[in-house]
Amino acid sequence: MHTLLYGAHMSIAGGIDKAITAGESIGCTTIQLFTKSNRQWASKKLSPEDIALFKDTLAKSSIKVIVSHTAYLINIGSPVKDIESKSMQSLILELDRCNELSIPYLVLHPGSYLNTDPQSCLDRITDNLNALFKKHQGTTMILLELMSGQGSTVCSTFEQLAYILNNIEDKNRLGFCFDTCHAWASGYDFSTPKTYEQMWTHLDDILSIENLKVIHMNDSKNKRGSKVDRHEMIGKGLIGLTAFELLMNDERLFDIPKILETPKTSLLDDAYNMSILKGLIRPYALKKLGIKD
Ligand SMILES: [Zn+2]
Ligand SMILES: [Zn+2]
Repeated sequence: MHTLLYGAHMSIAGGIDKAITAGESIGCTTIQLFTKSNRQWASKKLSPEDIALFKDTLAKSSIKVIVSHTAYLINIGSPVKDIESKSMQSLILELDRCNELSIPYLVLHPGSYLNTDPQSCLDRITDNLNALFKKHQGTTMILLELMSGQGSTVCSTFEQLAYILNNIEDKNRLGFCFDTCHAWASGYDFSTPKTYEQMWTHLDDILSIENLKVIHMNDSKNKRGSKVDRHEMIGKGLIGLTAFELLMNDERLFDIPKILETPKTSLLDDAYNMSILKGLIRPYALKKLGIKD
């Protein structure tokens, strides 16, 4: 038996436990959050009370999986030494927070090469992660996110993600996160049953679906291959509902948390997008997910 794992990115304004109560209030079974401000390097240490309240709220809630996302400032592939070392310190701090909160996954934007080249950036990321995993124990997995290819970001292709994954010594510590908007902007087509199947076969060949731990569910404001990362509400962008219908009914992906990062002015927007996703689930899949229709 499976359970439907879907939800959205939630704010931690007012306390990290507030993300859980907000997610639960609109029926999320999984949520994503930042464990600290996403625009600052440093943060105040979590107190034992913060940690206890978070764990207690989670245990009493309907949320089954929590995913964390790293701050946008982090670039562990930066050719600028100072930024690279600040990024590593900040990543370790975030990993510590996730471990303290027993959060299983920490999503990371792999990096940007700036005025250098993609390959040297991929090597810096790989070396930094290998060193990190050697020094630093814990159960939280880092998930490299598939990117759109905007600017000088790396890992907008399955091959670039696979280069890092294949060169990591401690394989249990690293997986990846598939973002529908990023994949689309990067140029991958999964908008028809045929192209959807072709893309997943290709992805499984290069990356292995086993390494896929989280899916970000976002429609795209921009054309396929545009490299521009602009998320849109489900069904209101250019990817089209067929792709999301195929994703929601794909048995291979039933146990993978599906998290919205769509534009919102209030929680109602997340609730609306979740209702669209749920409405796409066909009767056979509803049954397998234990949902009465
Ligand atoms: Zn992201
Ligand atoms: Zn994403």
